[in-house]
Amino acid sequence: MAAAESHAFQADVGRLLDLMVHSVYSERDIFLRELVSNGADACEKLRYEALADPTLVAADPDFLVTVSLDKHARTLSVADNGIGMSAAELAQSLGTIASSGTRAFLDSLKDDAPVGKDLIGQFGIGFYSGFMVAQRIDVETRRAGAGEAHLWSSDGKGTFSIAPLALEAAPARGTRVILHLKEDASEYLESTHVERILREHSSAIAVPIAFVEALGKEPRRLTDGSALWSKPKNAVSADDYNEFYRSLCGQFDAPALTLHWRAEGRHEYTVLAFVPGSRPFDLFDSSRKGRGKLYVRHVLVAEDAEILPSWLRFVRLVVDSADLPLNVSRELIQESAVFAAIKKGVANRIVQELTKLAENDAEAYAKVWANFGAVLKEGLYEEPERRDALFKLARFASTLDLDGKRTLADYVAAMRPNQTAIYYLTGDAIKRLDASPQLEGFRARGLEVLLLPDPIDAFWVSTAVGYEGKPFKSVSQGAADIKSIPLKEGTEGQAEPPAAALATLFALMKQQLEEVASDVRPSDRLSESPACVVAADHGLDRRLERMLAEHGQLKNVSKPVLEINSKHPLIAALAAQMAQADKEALNDAIWLIFDAAQLMDGEKLADAPGFAARLTRILGKAVGAPNVS
Ligand code: ADP
Repeated sequence: MAAAESHAFQADVGRLLDLMVHSVYSERDIFLRELVSNGADACEKLRYEALADPTLVAADPDFLVTVSLDKHARTLSVADNGIGMSAAELAQSLGTIASSGTRAFLDSLKDDAPVGKDLIGQFGIGFYSGFMVAQRIDVETRRAGAGEAHLWSSDGKGTFSIAPLALEAAPARGTRVILHLKEDASEYLESTHVERILREHSSAIAVPIAFVEALGKEPRRLTDGSALWSKPKNAVSADDYNEFYRSLCGQFDAPALTLHWRAEGRHEYTVLAFVPGSRPFDLFDSSRKGRGKLYVRHVLVAEDAEILPSWLRFVRLVVDSADLPLNVSRELIQESAVFAAIKKGVANRIVQELTKLAENDAEAYAKVWANFGAVLKEGLYEEPERRDALFKLARFASTLDLDGKRTLADYVAAMRPNQTAIYYLTGDAIKRLDASPQLEGFRARGLEVLLLPDPIDAFWVSTAVGYEGKPFKSVSQGAADIKSIPLKEGTEGQAEPPAAALATLFALMKQQLEEVASDVRPSDRLSESPACVVAADHGLDRRLERMLAEHGQLKNVSKPVLEINSKHPLIAALAAQMAQADKEALNDAIWLIFDAAQLMDGEKLADAPGFAARLTRILGKAVGAPNVS
């Protein structure tokens, strides 16, 4: 028989292993969950392959994962009669990083090692977690239907070997992972301890688990491997659901919402779906779609079928259908009209259930929205036909409620007489938005303004026609048009300076700022600040424009309009001094007003040295320093 071939682990695996070998992680138990789940996955893969070639499983049709202890040899092994691995698959799967969870875990280490380490349990680092408890791991494997078997072996220190394995010594089919336990991992030889971990972490696995407590003992079934979703709801406990959620989502909190239903009628299918209790690490990963496990009559057809629209990608689910054909490829299944109808039905139901939660349990729903609202809002942009339903789900921060619990219905109910539009301001943080000068005139009139901090906001709000006949209107775009709405008592401003002086000041401002501002005009939207910048009447929202420019989808950002609060004491004083003013100071003041307005709008200064020089000159004059320039 040929000798063992030695291979080096891919560099990233080496790093990961180093961490595992030296692990001081207190929750080492998770390695067992990972290995059992790999065994079950291998069974599900073979179940699918056997559809095309039933001879693969003819000799042993019942899938099983068996965990065995051997105190004398100090080993714990996890065996499955699943698909197995060829030599090439061994080198690939157990020599590189295959899973996205492991990749994400490693990425988290780049920023901050200790944090990453604590997160081991959350990411599900797969096979390599075995090295937390084992000084050596042997993997004996034989691919279903193959006439050869292999032994993979490693001490987790940089290299692994692969050698042919005599068929008599190999599993008839599938894989046996043998952990040679470290001195300090003897608890994994204690049957009560291991059985507890298996029951706690692996009971929801869709393949039965057998347990061999000690060498020579009979295997004992711990779980029946029946699909949780096919049981009637009243036969499933909250713990069962939570456990299943954990194994499905790789998250270790409790789900915020568990949905389990059976659709009957035109199509028959069962769905078990979870809204996670916290944000998964890859929520905003652009490749993350609305994926879930698709079963056809209990056979796993696709691990990550695109069942949900991407704006529901935070929902994790299993769909099992009796109507889809099993005798065609998984691609064809997913292109079928029946699958399209199921997808639609599932999305509808999830939106309905979220709406119910929002109506019946505001507190629980607030958490869901805080975690996933930014994703749900993508639906407002991507599926206009669902807007009305999604508007019911949407919660907003506004000038009346910074906590973000306002609905559009609340907004409309609080509209002022003569108010015709729903006002909003987009930006990147609620606090900063709340401090925007553009809001002053609206506040002074008691007009509520929605504060929209998520990048997606700028998109949906510019395409949504309105809500209940009220158009959405940006407070930082075009003329404010709010003069007809009376000011609240006590907020009337001071008198304006004489019109002629103002006109001269505006003319000078326009001329000075010609290069940077498309217009300079008096404002209705200001009451405290001297100035602000807004987008032109028919232009794009400033934030949207900036985002498009950052992504290279727009060449130039257009020049803003500078709006001036004519009643502000600074403006009044400048207008009054037009005739005799120090020209240099006047010009500096005009530019600084513009610069300050840009900064308040979250814009970077185009000419920072110019700004600094102007500020220094003005300050020098203010404190009476000689010859500052
Ligand atoms: P993940 O399971 O998340 O993909 P792992 O590191 O646990 O990551 O496993 C890497 C790969 O090794 C798996 O995707 C699978 O292809 C293969 N593998 C692991 N265990 C088994 C097994 N018991 N049977 C067959 N293949 C396996």
